Amino acid sequence: MKIIILGAGVIGVASAYQLAKDGHEVTVIEKAEEAAGFTSFGNAGLVTCGHSHSWASPDAPGQMLRSFLRNDRKIGFQPQLSPSQWLWALKFLRQCTPENSRKNSLNMQRLAQYSTEMLQEVVGETGVEYDRRQKGLIYFYRTQKSLDAAAHQADLLAEDGIASEILDRDGVVAREPNFAHLKDKLTGALYVPSDESGDSNLFTLALVRKCEQMGVTFRYGENVVSLEGNGDEIAAVLTDRGREEADAYVVCLGIYSPHLIRQLGLKLPIYPVRGYSITLPMTDSSKGPHQAGVDEDNLLAYSALGNRLRITSTAEIAGYSNAYEGKEFLGMIDEGKTLFGEAADFSDPKLWVGLRPMMPGGVPVIDRSPYSNLWLNTGHGHLGWTMSNGSARILADLVGQRQPQIDTKGMRYDG
Ligand SMILES: Cc1cc2nc3c(=O)[nH]c(=O)nc-3n(C[C@H](O)[C@H](O)[C@H](O)COP(=O)(O)OP(=O)(O)OC[C@H]3O[C@@H](n4cnc5c(N)ncnc54)[C@H](O)[C@@H]3O)c2cc1C
Repeated sequence: MKIIILGAGVIGVASAYQLAKDGHEVTVIEKAEEAAGFTSFGNAGLVTCGHSHSWASPDAPGQMLRSFLRNDRKIGFQPQLSPSQWLWALKFLRQCTPENSRKNSLNMQRLAQYSTEMLQEVVGETGVEYDRRQKGLIYFYRTQKSLDAAAHQADLLAEDGIASEILDRDGVVAREPNFAHLKDKLTGALYVPSDESGDSNLFTLALVRKCEQMGVTFRYGENVVSLEGNGDEIAAVLTDRGREEADAYVVCLGIYSPHLIRQLGLKLPIYPVRGYSITLPMTDSSKGPHQAGVDEDNLLAYSALGNRLRITSTAEIAGYSNAYEGKEFLGMIDEGKTLFGEAADFSDPKLWVGLRPMMPGGVPVIDRSPYSNLWLNTGHGHLGWTMSNGSARILADLVGQRQPQIDTKGMRYDG
């Protein structure tokens, strides 16, 4: 089949790889001049089952309120004159019940686990290099209440047979000796040995090169404008360079996916959730993280990506802008210094803002749309790097009319 993929983030490129592997003739259209230049560029790099829980949890509304009252903007709703933002927020709140939260988290965890296996397979097949580190991930806590929640997370992981360990203070320092200076401030951690980290931008760019060797065409600097419907099929994609027909089309446009399919009368509740990252040159890697992780009570994720230290923070429901002034990063720079101040040069951090393509419950949509040859692989929120390779394999199986290897309940289009 001739298949056109719209969008060359980590999801679009992983999809191109799996579809090309199945023998399809694949073209990827991307408006930027390179792949993975948007949300897949500067993320925390965690490949994480341990963090594969829905952000729409019973605690989320209270956390957002507290964050708002403290004006710390770590998790925030910044009201816009936008009905789609308010509609999305209502849908998010509806997903915050204990039942929905558990159901969504298990769906996400299942996909994350499968994706981690698929990442292994793709790396084995292609040999792509991306500053990978396979040492597990550590999620550490500063209060007893949050450590108690970690036990719940460990139980959830165990439901899918994912091993984890709860560590006390000494256990944390044994795993991460560079936290010795923090020992008194910690209550413990969850350690997930099968989790890992790596640079999703480097991964995607390396996979583009493999895809090209397999015959995939990448067209950059081309803006997808609309899809031309014909009955219950898509007849063509229209871009700023013209009209192109294919047998099938796959939407992987991240936060812009709903905008394209809205023209066809299809709804997709994806809204941007803004986050920040800083990247610093490591000056003494022996003082940097042994394994990547998350400072859960400060909502700070970090990883060593080769000779760079990456730190990310913040989840703001604040519209489509990725502009920044610079002062938004000051808090996370200070927090980063208290963790790894001796490891990296904090004098001139590379600043980045990313917009997570978030579904209200956090579970992406990997499915055929009501148009028989239009497929969706989008809405991966805070876990797109983690979920990319499994999502791509599921998509390729569905396109090839094969049963995916995991249950895709919860990932279906229900517009
Ligand atoms: C601060 C932060 C930290 C994160 N940390 C992690 C992490 O540790 N682990 C993890 O798993 N995930 C993480 N994520 C989430 C992850 O980065 C995203 O889920 C993932 O990058 C989404 O990939 P995507 O391909 O769907 O979207 P994108 O990467 O946004 O790709 C969509 C592509 O479509 C293109 N496009 C859009 N409109 C058009 C158009 N009209 N025509 C042509 N092309 C178009 C865009 O240019 C873009 O390249 C993080 C995100 C943020 C912001």
